[in-house]
Amino acid sequence: MAHDESQKIVVLTGGSRGIGRAIAEVLAADYTVINLDREVPSCRDDRVTTMVLDVSDESRVKHAFEAIRTEHGVPHALVNNAGISEPLEFRELSLQSWNRQIKVNLTAPFLTSREFSRLKSDDRSSARTIINIASASGLVGMPRYAAYNCSKSGLIELTKTLAVELAPSIHTCAICPGYILTPMQQAEYSAEELASCADANPSRRLGTPDEVAALVSFILSGKNNYLNGSVLVMDGGETSGGMAS
Ligand code: NDP
Repeated sequence: MAHDESQKIVVLTGGSRGIGRAIAEVLAADYTVINLDREVPSCRDDRVTTMVLDVSDESRVKHAFEAIRTEHGVPHALVNNAGISEPLEFRELSLQSWNRQIKVNLTAPFLTSREFSRLKSDDRSSARTIINIASASGLVGMPRYAAYNCSKSGLIELTKTLAVELAPSIHTCAICPGYILTPMQQAEYSAEELASCADANPSRRLGTPDEVAALVSFILSGKNNYLNGSVLVMDGGETSGGMAS
């Protein structure tokens, strides 16, 4: 199938709501955005194509990347954003919950990044890019989040390993957001808890999905092609003072 080579393609996971949704909206101005999510967004955006799948399912991920290559061409970038969080006291943490969080937050980015890296682009003018949405929680200890934190620190390590193994043709970066107000946070915290998180933050507020999306957009803009293996913390200063808990 003939493709419009001038139109760059970004594959984004978990783009139907929250941070992913904001990323999809920002990138849709300049890229063909393919959103891999378990559900279609509640508010339709004609500029974003959604493929419904579980990104931790190896065969579904392989088929999705084959279909993307056939229908759209080789993607310029991959944004691994889909993630889940199941806060539990460590003594109550079941193996099933541990495995679920590791599977979605770490195994899925491994699977998508592997398929993305196996596709070869003819365009040698700039590095292709992988951006992993990790978390400030992957940098510090935090009670009740053992599985989540380990999955995110694993994702940071995957970022660094890919940065040395896949460069110069592919650059890989991680973004580590702090508290960002999304459906995930609203499901986990009461309004009072979120207000006290904001109060405890040196910046005295939570971050926004649009701020994460703006950072993704900057990394993909090509204005700085030396970002590789970079772990960009975006948490209002929260982890700088060891206040994450
Ligand atoms: P949300 O829960 O609001 O959105 C996550 C999206 O990912 C949902 O659309 C969800 O679909 C999708 N998704 C989850 N699992 C899968 C899967 N297996 N296959 C396909 N799609 C899936 O999360 P946020 O927007 O808050 O978070 C986005 C990312 O940012 C996550 O990786 C999170 O860990 C990270 N992050 C978030 C922070 C925050 O404060 N919000 C802070 C630091 C990091 P479904 O509804 O079906 O589950």
